[in-house]
Amino acid sequence: MDQKVTKPQPPTEATLQRLAGVVGARYALRDDEDKQPYLVEWRDKYFGAAAMVLRPGSVEEVSQLLAIANETHTAIVPQGGNTGLVGAQIPFESGHEIVLSLSRLNRVRDIDAADNTITVDAGCVLQSIQDAADRVDRLFPLRIGSEGSCQIGGNIGTNAGGTAVLAYGNTRDLVLGLEVVLADGRVWNGLRRLRKDNTGYDLKNLFIGSEGTLGIVTGAVLKLFPRPRDKATVFIGLPSPANALELLGLAQERTGRRVTGFEIMPRFGLEVVITHGQNMRDPLAEPHPWYVLMELSGGGSPGTLNDTASDILAEAAEAGWVSDAALAASEAQAGDFWRLREVVSETQKHEGGSIKFDVSVPVSSVPDFIDEVSAACKALEPGCRPLQFGHMGDGNIHSNITQPVGADKQAFLDRWGDFNDVVHEVVARFQGSISAEHGVGRLKRDWMPRIKQPLELEMMYMLKHQLDPNGILNPGKVLPPQN
Ligand code: ZN
Repeated sequence: MDQKVTKPQPPTEATLQRLAGVVGARYALRDDEDKQPYLVEWRDKYFGAAAMVLRPGSVEEVSQLLAIANETHTAIVPQGGNTGLVGAQIPFESGHEIVLSLSRLNRVRDIDAADNTITVDAGCVLQSIQDAADRVDRLFPLRIGSEGSCQIGGNIGTNAGGTAVLAYGNTRDLVLGLEVVLADGRVWNGLRRLRKDNTGYDLKNLFIGSEGTLGIVTGAVLKLFPRPRDKATVFIGLPSPANALELLGLAQERTGRRVTGFEIMPRFGLEVVITHGQNMRDPLAEPHPWYVLMELSGGGSPGTLNDTASDILAEAAEAGWVSDAALAASEAQAGDFWRLREVVSETQKHEGGSIKFDVSVPVSSVPDFIDEVSAACKALEPGCRPLQFGHMGDGNIHSNITQPVGADKQAFLDRWGDFNDVVHEVVARFQGSISAEHGVGRLKRDWMPRIKQPLELEMMYMLKHQLDPNGILNPGKVLPPQN
């Protein structure tokens, strides 16, 4: 079978006119200034170009646009809130691609507390879905730093993770059904609400995490959960990640599935946050080598989990795993603790250049993994400052390596490839993944042939070829072009 995907063509003026005709001139942006916000990646890592930015207002319009794009072999780059971290949502520099923004598709179509489901348009901002769930006394548990601006279509496209994965799973686990516009414009209505459905291949899971390369998600049925009645949030100082792993095991054993957050960061991370963040302070009196932010939440009467957390911490302290801890006395204080964790990435830029990784390993390997990455990076560049933090509860660590004090920022960032080699070697040794929750996009695309088995890659190209034979859907993302 021919698995080659053909290359898209630059759109002609006539094609642009036809596309604009579908959405109306107001929503077909051609002016440089109007297009600009859709072409720049938010950290200024990628600057793309596009012949046009289209902002359809209905699924029917998306369908018509794709039918034209497929017929004319015009490349389409779908985009949600433009918060992605691997460049999947940004067009390449050629200027021949069209950005398709889903942001006008932002309705909650249905919410059903009895079924514990919510049906939404792809352009709904994540926070608006959380709020809608809250209004019917339910929880939508996807929780990520960009929730105020990212859109659920993008979350689905990248299979976003975040801080609640250890309890509720990642986006893939939260989707019951999807509506997808295929490359040729046909609309697949897979908006089912079933918890069980074993009728053949699970098509929705092909599109989740495909980063817009197999189809354009326009709607989704998502799972809701009971809203937690009780919550305990603790900021904990400990000697090492190995102690954190012991604490995690103890907390899960004592509370069942009520550990809903378990984030780790080193002292360097807290120093960065306190030095460069606004109104941040160390919740503990003395410095500690490592910190864990632990959240317990679930049903039951308010205050019960605070008692449970205290018992766990006392037992852990007895065992020497925990040095000190602060239990949040209010919602506001719990929010302060979470902010310490949430601003790590953005405050880190004040320390100069950082080379960043989003990797996962089996949870039990996290302590050894952290040690070995630090050692490998310091061997490569003595004086570099590893800041390894993140979602210890699910084995996803953001291994960010900050430049040595006083070093030249660009010279350090130019060594990204060398750091890739040493960090990915450690990841491979632990049988981990080089992209845990951010996706592949263009940032990690050229690694795919090195990290996937040839047969896995072959199956991916087969799917791409079958679902997008003209290669119009987000070309050059996820899979390297053939030839
Ligand atoms: Zn993360």
